[in-house]
Amino acid sequence: MSYLVIFAVVLVLLNTYPVLASQDLLFTSKRDALKSQAAVMASALMELESLSADQVARVMNMLDNMGLTRILVTDPAGLILYDSTRQPTEETDAPPEYRYALYQEVMSALRGNDVAYSRYTDRAFTSTAACPIVYRGMVIGAIYVLEVDEVQGALLLSLQANLRSISLVIAVVTLVMSALFSKVLTARIAALLRAIRIVGEGEYGHRLQPVGRDEMAQLAGEFNHLTDRLQTTEEVRRRFVSDASHELKTPLAAIRLLADSILQNGEMEPEVVRDFVTDIGSEAERLTRITEHLLALTRLDSLPEGERWVVDVSQVTERTVALLQPVADAAGVTVEKYLKPDCMILCTEDDLSQICFNLVENAIKYNYTGGKVFVFVYRDGDQVLLEVGDTGVGIPEEDLPKVFNRFYRVDKARSRAAGGTGLGLSIVRDTVRRHGGWVTARPRNPEGSLFTAGFPRYVPQRGEKGETP
Ligand code: ADP
Repeated sequence: MSYLVIFAVVLVLLNTYPVLASQDLLFTSKRDALKSQAAVMASALMELESLSADQVARVMNMLDNMGLTRILVTDPAGLILYDSTRQPTEETDAPPEYRYALYQEVMSALRGNDVAYSRYTDRAFTSTAACPIVYRGMVIGAIYVLEVDEVQGALLLSLQANLRSISLVIAVVTLVMSALFSKVLTARIAALLRAIRIVGEGEYGHRLQPVGRDEMAQLAGEFNHLTDRLQTTEEVRRRFVSDASHELKTPLAAIRLLADSILQNGEMEPEVVRDFVTDIGSEAERLTRITEHLLALTRLDSLPEGERWVVDVSQVTERTVALLQPVADAAGVTVEKYLKPDCMILCTEDDLSQICFNLVENAIKYNYTGGKVFVFVYRDGDQVLLEVGDTGVGIPEEDLPKVFNRFYRVDKARSRAAGGTGLGLSIVRDTVRRHGGWVTARPRNPEGSLFTAGFPRYVPQRGEKGETP
């Protein structure tokens, strides 16, 4: 609609301005030409001392009438002495009102002024001019010329007609094109809206077919890209929910079974009852661990980044390993530490301790009696690396990329027996990334596995003192 309005304004301007401008130009040139023609005639008549009809007719007959429609010569009273449209004999017979030229132009000329007028009426340009005939400073008469130009008028008319037909064609083409374009555009917008609604209702597989390379096609591409991400996120969420409920269901079912057995079997040995209740306790403990891990992951997903402090990785690792020493002793595993000083990063002590705890605990859990765990902390360029290696069961090559996935376990039975939840490494990966770091898992030579976490090293600015809270 707005384009149509713009076009309408342009067409109206196109139809009026050129016609008016050319009309104006013609008016000026006609007035100038007539004025000079009247002046030429007046100067010829000035040669005569006094104007009489005969003398004027003689002079005028010698002059070319230069294509003028009518030439009048009057005396100072306005009495017509010569009229190019009449014979001299007609003049005297004419009634008095026809013998005087009482035109406004003649009156002005008799007062000593040169005048010229032009107008466009009845498909013709009518131009008049008059000027005084002066002899020794006295106005002895006036000359009046009239020109009716139908040729130029017809030209102007045909110009107008041409412009009108061109405008009509442009108007029709514009109307058709606008209707067509808006139909095509609205159809594509409607398709996009429909797609948004379908995806909004949960059908994440729906995609648009981008046509062409214009903005609408780009929009469709972006929409598909967005829907791809939405679909992936939705799949991850569904898998997580189903895995989480499955993980929670298993210990709950065990608790239920054990409790039912105790209830239904009235003559159960007190020893067996004690065993069953112990099992119920450990299953409940498992449930607590899973919910704690789930909560930790949710917090990592949803909480904004908190305040960070300068933390010494070696110090935190030292404390965490000390915390796990009884577990290592119980499993018959030796932990060896190689901690370099001055390994500062920006983190929180809790997060770093959690990362270190999970990695070292796994290295102990998935180890053999008499096995070893090596913990290294050192600087490597602008990074601080935390490496946890072990001589344990190792991880098969094909499982390596998946160990950081939620609920992924290489050996389910072993993990369960060791009290694992399958969430420890996910928590490690999410926490490390939260602090701008990375973590990898690879096989260790000759046996076991090696986990490496890297963090951007903190370098104190000049005049600043790194402090732990
Ligand atoms: P879990 O609670 O089961 O230990 P994690 O997310 O910590 O869960 O680890 C995922 C899986 O990766 C474990 O179930 C285990 O199979 C494997 N894994 C992790 N650390 C080690 C390791 N040091 N040596 C061998 N396998 C490991």
